[in-house]
Amino acid sequence: MDCGFLMDYIELVKNTEICKNCKNIVIGKGNLNAYIMFVGEAPGRKEDEQGLPFVGAAGKNLDKLLEKVGLSMDDVYIANILKCRPPENRDPLPEEIRAHTPWLLKQIEEVKPRVICSLGNYATKFFLSGYEVDLMDKQPGITSVHGKVKIIELKGNTIKLIPLFHPAAIIYNRNLLSAWEKDMEIVKKEVSQKNLS
Ligand code: URA
Repeated sequence: MDCGFLMDYIELVKNTEICKNCKNIVIGKGNLNAYIMFVGEAPGRKEDEQGLPFVGAAGKNLDKLLEKVGLSMDDVYIANILKCRPPENRDPLPEEIRAHTPWLLKQIEEVKPRVICSLGNYATKFFLSGYEVDLMDKQPGITSVHGKVKIIELKGNTIKLIPLFHPAAIIYNRNLLSAWEKDMEIVKKEVSQKNLS
Protein backbone atom coordinates (compact mmCIF):
# COMPACT_ATOMS: atom_id res chain seq x y z
CA MET A 1 0.00 0.00 0.00
CA ASP A 2 1.18 3.50 -0.84
CA CYS A 3 1.62 5.21 2.53
CA GLY A 4 3.05 8.55 1.38
CA PHE A 5 -0.40 10.13 1.53
CA LEU A 6 -0.84 9.28 5.20
CA MET A 7 1.05 12.23 6.69
CA ASP A 8 -1.27 14.75 5.03
CA TYR A 9 -4.37 13.02 6.40
CA ILE A 10 -2.91 12.65 9.87
CA GLU A 11 -2.02 16.34 9.83
CA LEU A 12 -5.56 17.39 8.85
CA VAL A 13 -7.03 15.26 11.64
CA LYS A 14 -4.50 16.44 14.20
CA ASN A 15 -5.44 20.04 13.55
CA THR A 16 -8.95 19.50 14.86
CA GLU A 17 -9.72 20.18 18.52
CA ILE A 18 -11.25 16.72 19.08
CA CYS A 19 -7.91 15.17 18.18
CA LYS A 20 -6.11 17.16 20.84
CA ASN A 21 -8.48 15.75 23.47
CA CYS A 22 -8.69 12.11 22.43
CA LYS A 23 -6.54 9.16 23.56
CA ASN A 24 -6.31 7.45 20.19
CA ILE A 25 -6.89 8.18 16.54
CA VAL A 26 -9.27 5.38 15.53
CA ILE A 27 -8.48 4.41 11.95
CA GLY A 28 -10.33 1.20 11.17
CA LYS A 29 -10.33 -2.57 11.51
CA GLY A 30 -10.91 -5.63 9.35
CA ASN A 31 -9.78 -6.81 5.95
CA LEU A 32 -8.09 -4.22 3.74
CA ASN A 33 -9.34 -6.13 0.68
CA ALA A 34 -12.91 -6.44 1.88
CA TYR A 35 -15.84 -6.65 -0.53
CA ILE A 36 -18.07 -4.83 1.95
CA MET A 37 -17.25 -1.87 4.17
CA PHE A 38 -19.22 -0.43 7.11
CA VAL A 39 -18.88 3.26 7.90
CA GLY A 40 -20.07 4.69 11.21
CA GLU A 41 -20.04 8.15 12.75
CA ALA A 42 -17.27 8.57 15.31
CA PRO A 43 -15.47 6.64 18.03
CA GLY A 44 -17.11 6.50 21.46
CA ARG A 45 -15.40 6.14 24.83
CA LYS A 46 -14.46 2.45 24.47
CA GLU A 47 -13.25 2.97 20.89
CA ASP A 48 -11.13 5.94 22.02
CA GLU A 49 -9.59 3.83 24.79
CA GLN A 50 -8.84 0.84 22.59
CA GLY A 51 -8.03 2.64 19.33
CA LEU A 52 -10.48 0.45 17.40
CA PRO A 53 -13.92 1.21 15.92
CA PHE A 54 -17.10 -0.42 17.17
CA VAL A 55 -15.81 -2.22 20.26
CA GLY A 56 -18.46 -0.85 22.69
CA ALA A 57 -22.20 -1.49 22.96
CA ALA A 58 -22.94 -0.38 19.38
CA GLY A 59 -20.11 -2.64 18.26
CA LYS A 60 -21.74 -5.63 19.96
CA ASN A 61 -24.88 -4.94 17.93
CA LEU A 62 -22.84 -4.61 14.77
CA ASP A 63 -21.17 -7.95 15.52
CA LYS A 64 -24.62 -9.55 15.77
CA LEU A 65 -25.55 -8.00 12.45
CA LEU A 66 -22.44 -9.36 10.79
CA GLU A 67 -23.05 -12.80 12.21
CA LYS A 68 -26.64 -12.79 10.93
CA VAL A 69 -25.51 -12.17 7.39
CA GLY A 70 -22.72 -14.71 7.70
CA LEU A 71 -19.84 -12.23 7.77
CA SER A 72 -16.76 -12.31 9.97
CA MET A 73 -14.16 -9.61 10.57
CA ASP A 74 -12.17 -11.27 7.76
CA ASP A 75 -14.88 -10.29 5.27
CA VAL A 76 -15.37 -6.64 6.16
CA TYR A 77 -13.58 -3.38 6.78
CA ILE A 78 -15.00 -0.98 9.37
CA ALA A 79 -14.24 2.73 9.76
CA ASN A 80 -15.90 6.00 10.79
CA ILE A 81 -16.30 9.42 9.24
CA LEU A 82 -14.50 10.93 12.26
CA LYS A 83 -11.24 9.41 13.47
CA CYS A 84 -11.39 10.95 16.96
CA ARG A 85 -14.01 10.92 19.70
CA PRO A 86 -16.04 14.12 20.04
CA PRO A 87 -16.43 15.14 23.71
CA GLU A 88 -19.49 13.55 25.36
CA ASN A 89 -20.15 11.83 22.03
CA ARG A 90 -21.69 15.00 20.63
CA ASP A 91 -22.60 15.19 16.94
CA PRO A 92 -19.76 15.75 14.46
CA LEU A 93 -19.25 19.35 13.35
CA PRO A 94 -19.02 20.21 9.64
CA GLU A 95 -15.40 21.36 9.95
CA GLU A 96 -14.51 18.06 11.65
CA ILE A 97 -16.17 16.04 8.89
CA ARG A 98 -14.32 18.18 6.33
CA ALA A 99 -10.96 17.53 8.01
CA HIS A 100 -11.42 13.81 8.78
CA THR A 101 -13.13 12.45 5.65
CA PRO A 102 -10.28 12.84 3.13
CA TRP A 103 -8.63 10.01 5.09
CA LEU A 104 -11.83 7.94 4.97
CA LEU A 105 -12.09 8.48 1.21
CA LYS A 106 -8.50 7.35 0.79
CA GLN A 107 -9.26 4.24 2.84
CA ILE A 108 -12.22 3.48 0.55
CA GLU A 109 -10.02 4.03 -2.48
CA GLU A 110 -7.49 1.55 -1.08
CA VAL A 111 -9.96 -1.10 0.09
CA LYS A 112 -12.08 -0.79 -3.08
CA PRO A 113 -15.28 -2.22 -1.55
CA ARG A 114 -18.14 -3.07 -3.90
CA VAL A 115 -20.66 -2.38 -1.13
CA ILE A 116 -20.66 0.26 1.61
CA CYS A 117 -23.15 0.14 4.48
CA SER A 118 -23.43 3.62 5.97
CA LEU A 119 -24.46 3.46 9.61
CA GLY A 120 -26.79 6.26 10.72
CA ASN A 121 -27.51 9.79 9.53
CA TYR A 122 -24.04 11.33 9.38
CA ALA A 123 -22.34 8.62 7.38
CA THR A 124 -25.35 8.26 5.08
CA LYS A 125 -25.65 11.98 4.40
CA PHE A 126 -21.94 12.21 3.72
CA PHE A 127 -22.16 9.61 0.96
CA LEU A 128 -25.47 10.87 -0.44
CA SER A 129 -24.06 14.41 -0.66
CA GLY A 130 -21.33 13.16 -3.00
CA TYR A 131 -18.76 13.84 -0.21
CA GLU A 132 -19.74 17.53 -0.13
CA VAL A 133 -20.05 18.41 3.54
CA ASP A 134 -21.94 21.62 2.72
CA LEU A 135 -24.65 19.57 1.00
CA MET A 136 -25.14 17.07 3.83
CA ASP A 137 -27.98 19.08 5.39
CA LYS A 138 -29.98 18.83 2.19
CA GLN A 139 -29.92 15.02 2.12
CA PRO A 140 -32.83 12.86 3.25
CA GLY A 141 -32.59 11.34 6.73
CA ILE A 142 -31.90 7.70 7.50
CA THR A 143 -35.58 7.04 8.34
CA SER A 144 -36.56 7.57 4.71
CA VAL A 145 -33.54 5.98 2.98
CA HIS A 146 -32.59 2.97 5.12
CA GLY A 147 -32.46 -0.27 3.19
CA LYS A 148 -32.59 1.50 -0.19
CA VAL A 149 -29.60 0.63 -2.34
CA LYS A 150 -28.03 3.57 -4.13
CA ILE A 151 -25.18 3.54 -6.63
CA ILE A 152 -22.35 5.93 -5.81
CA GLU A 153 -19.01 6.56 -7.50
CA LEU A 154 -15.59 7.18 -6.04
CA LYS A 155 -12.60 7.79 -8.29
CA GLY A 156 -14.06 5.68 -11.09
CA ASN A 157 -15.19 2.86 -8.81
CA THR A 158 -18.88 2.05 -8.68
CA ILE A 159 -20.11 1.19 -5.20
CA LYS A 160 -23.49 0.08 -3.89
CA LEU A 161 -24.43 2.15 -0.87
CA ILE A 162 -26.80 0.54 1.63
CA PRO A 163 -27.87 3.03 4.32
CA LEU A 164 -28.63 1.34 7.65
CA PHE A 165 -29.84 2.56 11.02
CA HIS A 166 -26.92 3.12 13.37
CA PRO A 167 -26.44 0.04 15.61
CA ALA A 168 -26.56 2.36 18.66
CA ALA A 169 -30.01 3.63 17.60
CA ILE A 170 -31.33 0.06 17.84
CA ILE A 171 -30.20 -0.12 21.46
CA TYR A 172 -32.21 3.00 22.36
CA ASN A 173 -35.20 2.35 20.12
CA ARG A 174 -36.21 -1.30 19.97
CA ASN A 175 -38.95 -0.38 17.47
CA LEU A 176 -36.23 -0.10 14.84
CA LEU A 177 -35.22 -3.72 15.25
CA SER A 178 -37.67 -5.17 12.72
CA ALA A 179 -36.71 -2.56 10.09
CA TRP A 180 -33.08 -3.35 10.78
CA GLU A 181 -33.62 -7.08 10.33
CA LYS A 182 -35.42 -6.43 7.04
CA ASP A 183 -32.53 -4.25 5.87
CA MET A 184 -30.21 -7.12 6.72
CA GLU A 185 -31.91 -9.18 4.05
CA ILE A 186 -30.77 -6.57 1.52
CA VAL A 187 -27.22 -6.78 2.87
CA LYS A 188 -27.40 -10.57 2.73
CA LYS A 189 -28.51 -10.44 -0.90
CA GLU A 190 -25.62 -8.14 -1.81
CA VAL A 191 -23.14 -10.33 0.04
CA SER A 192 -24.40 -13.40 -1.83
CA GLN A 193 -23.64 -11.60 -5.12
CA LYS A 194 -20.00 -11.52 -4.08
CA ASN A 195 -19.43 -15.05 -5.28
CA LEU A 196 -21.04 -14.26 -8.62
CA SER A 197 -18.83 -11.28 -9.43
N1 URA B 1 -20.39 4.52 17.00
C1 URA B 1 -19.80 4.79 15.80
O1 URA B 1 -20.40 5.42 14.93
N2 URA B 1 -18.56 4.35 15.62
C2 URA B 1 -17.87 3.66 16.51
O2 URA B 1 -16.74 3.30 16.24
C3 URA B 1 -18.50 3.39 17.75
C4 URA B 1 -19.75 3.83 17.96
